[in-house]
Formats: sequence, C-alpha cells, structure tokens
Amino acid sequence: MEWSRLTAHEAHEYLMKKSFSSLELTQSFYDCIKAVDSKVAAYLTSMEEEAYQQAQQADEKIAKGEGVTELTGIPLALKDILCTKSIRTTCASKILSNFYPPYDATVVKKLRENGAVFLGKANMDEFAMGSSTENSGFGITRNPWDLNRIPGGSSGGSAAAVAADECIASLGSDTGGSIRQPAACCGVVGFKPTYGRVSRFGLVAFASSLDQIGPITKDVTDCTILMNSISGHDTNDSTSVNVAVPDYRKALVNDVKGMKLGIPNEYFVEGMDPDVERAVWEAIKLLEKWGASIKEVSLPHTEYAVATYYIICTAEASSNLARYDGVKYGHRAKGYDGLIDMYGKTRSEGFGPEVKRRIMLGTYVLSAGYYDAYYRKAQQVRTLIREDFDRAFEEYDALLTATSPTPAFMIGEKVKDPLQMYLSDILTIPVNLAGLPGISIPCGFSHGGLPIGLQIIGKHFDEEKILRVAYTFEQRTDCHLKRPRLD
Ligand code: GLN
Repeated sequence: MEWSRLTAHEAHEYLMKKSFSSLELTQSFYDCIKAVDSKVAAYLTSMEEEAYQQAQQADEKIAKGEGVTELTGIPLALKDILCTKSIRTTCASKILSNFYPPYDATVVKKLRENGAVFLGKANMDEFAMGSSTENSGFGITRNPWDLNRIPGGSSGGSAAAVAADECIASLGSDTGGSIRQPAACCGVVGFKPTYGRVSRFGLVAFASSLDQIGPITKDVTDCTILMNSISGHDTNDSTSVNVAVPDYRKALVNDVKGMKLGIPNEYFVEGMDPDVERAVWEAIKLLEKWGASIKEVSLPHTEYAVATYYIICTAEASSNLARYDGVKYGHRAKGYDGLIDMYGKTRSEGFGPEVKRRIMLGTYVLSAGYYDAYYRKAQQVRTLIREDFDRAFEEYDALLTATSPTPAFMIGEKVKDPLQMYLSDILTIPVNLAGLPGISIPCGFSHGGLPIGLQIIGKHFDEEKILRVAYTFEQRTDCHLKRPRLD
C-alpha cells in the first residue's frame, strides 16, 4: 500500500486500526515531497519540525483514545495565504517574504484543534491574483499531469500537492475560481463554500466581498470531513454567517433520483475546448440516466460577469493592499528619502507586475470621476447576476457547468496576455459574485490525458445538494481514481 495515496477517511481507518502511526504517515509524505517537489514545486515553506510534533501528539491521542477526530494525525497542506502562528506566511509576495504572523487563521486553529498535521505552506499566485500560479513571487508550480503545464490558480500549489500525493488534502481560497479551477486542472475535488460559511479571519485579504476558504481533496468524502471542521460563525469575522452548520457527512447520499438539475446555456462559451464540452455533456447524460431531471436554463447576465468581477476585485484589492506600506510589517525598501519615497520604493520592490496592475486598475475605478461609471455600475450588475441565479434556483436544485473552458494550458501560454488569462475564469467568477457554493469534481480526460472538471453550483447555504450530486457521480464513475505519474 502506498500510504501517500490514501484519502483522509481511509488513512483515519488505518490510524484507528494502528496499521501505521501518524508519525510514520507524516514521514511517508515528506519522503514523497522529497522525491517529487523538486519537479512540481507545490510548497513554499516546509513545516517539518512542527508537523512531527503534531503527529506525535496525534499518536498519543489515538493511543489513549481521547479526543480523536477524523482529522487526528492527517497530514494537510495550507495555501500560503492563511496565517500560521510563527510560521512564515508570504502570500507568494516578496512584500511579505519575512512575515511571521502572531496568530493562526481561524480555519488553521480549528484544524489544529481537530488534530490535523500541517506539512507546509503551498505556493499560489501573489495575493491570489491569477489563474496559473505563474504570478507567484517565488517561482512557478507545475501540473503533476504534465510538468510543462500550469496547475491552475491561484491555489495551484494546494491542488498540485493533493494530485501529486504530497499531502492528503489541502486548503485553498477562492475569490473568482481559485479553488475550483486548479482542482479541475489537477484532477482533484475543490469546494468553494457559500460566502459567509467559513471564517476569513487570518486569510490575507484580496477582495473581501468575494474571498472564501475551502478544501481541495482526493474525494468528496474528504471534502465533507474538512468542511465539518472549518465551517461556522466566528466573532472575529463579521461576514461569517451565524446559521447552523449541518453534518456534511450526511450529504453523502448516492442517489440523484428526482433532483432537478439546470444546464446554463451561456456557460457553453465560444472557444470552449471540445474535449471539455464532450466530457461535461457525458457527465450530464449520466446524471440524467440515474434519475435526475435535466433542463437547460438561461442566466442572461453571464456575459458581464468577467468585466464586473475585474472591477470589483481590483477595487477591493487596491484598498486592501494599501496596508503594505513598509511601516507595520513586511518588506521595507532601503535607502529612501522621506516617508512618501519609502512607501513608493517599498511597494515598487515588493509587489509583482500583476498585483501592480490590479492596484492601478482598482484605484482608477474608485477614483472620484469614474466611481459611478465603473464601480457603482459593477455593483448594480452584480445584483443582476445574483438575481439570475435566484430565479434559476426557484426551479432547480443545482446547476451543472464545466469548471474551466479548457484543460490546463501550457506554462507561458497566457502570461503575457492578461485578458486571455482573465477570460479563463469565465465559468467560476459568477458563483463568487453571487456568493454561492460551488464544487469541481473530476469528470473525464482530454485526448491528451489531462483532467477535466465538472462544476456543480448550489443555492446559498444549500451545500448538501451539490455534495450529493458530486458524491453520486464519484461513486458511480472511476475517473477520480486515475492518478498522474511522476517517475
Ligand atoms: N483568477 C482569478 C483572479 O485572478 C481568481 C483568483 C482567485 O479566485 N483568487 O482574480
């Protein structure tokens, strides 16, 4: 048995049976990381010392049979956007290259309390701005299925680490698709919860009205285990919602009979890869065969989603990133002439080109003369997009689309053309604008052997239905079992 291939629920059973210890399991992951991470480059920072301590504590708990959860002793990776107490947290930006947070993000705290083991911090696009992980300030991550391709982004390190068996599961964050799209590119499961379901306290802010933390896992069951651990109201995040958290495990029902599933016409966009279109329709036909009723639906404002998103997210980013001024924390330029010069030099040196582009765009759309034309208008269109979904959900239990219009593209293919890069998020962005939950699960492969993701979108706080559709599909097909080869 290759331990690093196990899911969390499988590893949990073996830990309970004492087939191996958490220390041994953790060791096997570091062996795997040593063998493949020179090729994949999923991690920015190793947490080896702490991980072994956590593993030892987990083993003690298991030996005593006290306070054991499904995550006790399970090795995970954390996107480097999540604050980890006294562990370097860079957000893949040079401006935070020496930032050691004084506290844990709420999700990190919760996982820690549940006994998880943290292997390390995963690479990402700088400040989560990107779709390929090429915007990291510390080098690119490669797709384990084809090392010449991108792993998706911005949680590319988190998704690649799961796909390459460099961790059992990971956490990512999703502002416009950054959990679902890399999960699709890497052939794993990625779940973006409803906005407000998971606390954002300790998540380095990109666009606060869109950001949400969620799991990236090897299967849907693991996704529910992580969701059970990280969900819930938090007084440290006023946007986390105080509604009861269900036991997500109960959503693991292998049956879609009678469910009403809508297929948004507008999501079969021009330029969609024929392999993606074929795989998604095959998945839809299977769900229909298993008893779901399938009907096409229109979400007429979809075409405005990318423009709306890139106004709102840049506006919020320009405001959120004002805090990196070299005064309170992070990088400070040397050799400056007064305060303003220090700000300017620090920010010029510390931020990469994409982050600078977004700060400039965001400052522009918020400026006095343009606020109404851009920012206010975008907020109005955001409401229209949300209302499209509200109407659809009066009739449908969930909506089915591709996660990304193409499989993973080549490294370097889009990096010089930001607009092409922005367009690759067209199918995931509307979900964030509306604050909805969405999941990407593997649903097939391209002719070139690259994974393809199916996106399932649900109503606010109705995550169980999309998990149920995802679980049914997973249990009755086998594409999630195929793994990349990294010899
Ligand atoms: N690719 C999108 C962007 O560049 C989404 C990123 C994200 O979800 N963090 O903004």
